[in-house]
Amino acid sequence: MRKLVCCLAGLDPSGGAGLQADIEAVGAMGAHACVCATALTVQTVNAVQSYQVVDAQLLTAQLHTLAAAMPFRVIKSGMLGNAANAAVLQAYLAAQPQPLTYVCDPVMAANSGGNLGDGNELRAAYAQLMPYVTLLTPNTLELAALTNCHDELAAVKRLSDMGAKAILLKGGHADSASSHISNRLYVLGDLQLELVLPRQPGQYHGTGCSLAAAIAGLLAQGHSLNNAVSHAHVWLQSAVRRAELMQPGDQQHLLNRWG
Ligand code: PLP
Repeated sequence: MRKLVCCLAGLDPSGGAGLQADIEAVGAMGAHACVCATALTVQTVNAVQSYQVVDAQLLTAQLHTLAAAMPFRVIKSGMLGNAANAAVLQAYLAAQPQPLTYVCDPVMAANSGGNLGDGNELRAAYAQLMPYVTLLTPNTLELAALTNCHDELAAVKRLSDMGAKAILLKGGHADSASSHISNRLYVLGDLQLELVLPRQPGQYHGTGCSLAAAIAGLLAQGHSLNNAVSHAHVWLQSAVRRAELMQPGDQQHLLNRWG
C-alpha cells in the first residue's frame, strides 16, 4: 500500500504552488497525498490578489475526519494562513501518543512577493509548532522573519532551541547574482549537509512547496533525512529544468513535476 502524507496547505488556482504542488510532488515520490485545505487564494503564477483562510473549525473537522479514515504518520504543512489554523495543527500534533513526522514549510508569502498571512501573527504561531517539527524548510527571508534575526547561525540555533529537530535552509533568495544556490541542512543546530545547485535563469513558482512535499513523501517511505533531502533536490532540479513560462510577459515559470 502506498504510504500517506497529510498535506495542509492553501489552494493556488494556477496549480503551481500550494495543495496541487504537494499532491504532485508527494505522488511523484511514490506516496499518496491526502489534503486539508487551510485557505483559498486568488492568484496567478505572477501575483497573489487575495486569499480567504478556512475557518479553524472546518480545518479541525477535515484533519480529524481524515485521520480516522486514513491513519497517516507524516504531516506536511505549507500555507497555514493565520494563528487559529496553526493552533489546530499544534493541538493535533500535541495529542498524538507517538510523535508524527512533521515537515513544516513556514510559508508567509508567495515567491512573487504577495503576503499569505500576517508576519507577526505567523511568527508567534510557528513558534508554537517548533517542538513538533521534524524538518523546517525556510528560505533565508522566512528564517529572518521567524526569528527577527539576520545572522544565519544564530537564527538556526534559536529555532533548534525552540524544538525544530532539523532545518533545511534554502538559499535561493540569498544572492540572486550568484550562479549557484546553496541549501544547507542543519540537524540539532549543526550543519549536516550542503547541497550546491546550479541556478537556473528566471523565477519559479512553487519550488518551496514542491521540495518540502517531496521530502515528506520520501520520509513516509522510510528514507533517512539525508537521503530524502538529497533525492528530493535531484527531482526538484528536473522539475525546474522542465518548467515553462505559460504566456509571454510572465515573470514566474510553472514547474513541470511530471517526469
Ligand atoms: N502556498 C500557497 C497556497 C501559495 O499560493 C504559495 C505561493 O504562491 C506558497 C504556498 C509558497 O510557494 P513557494 O513554493 O513558491 O514558496
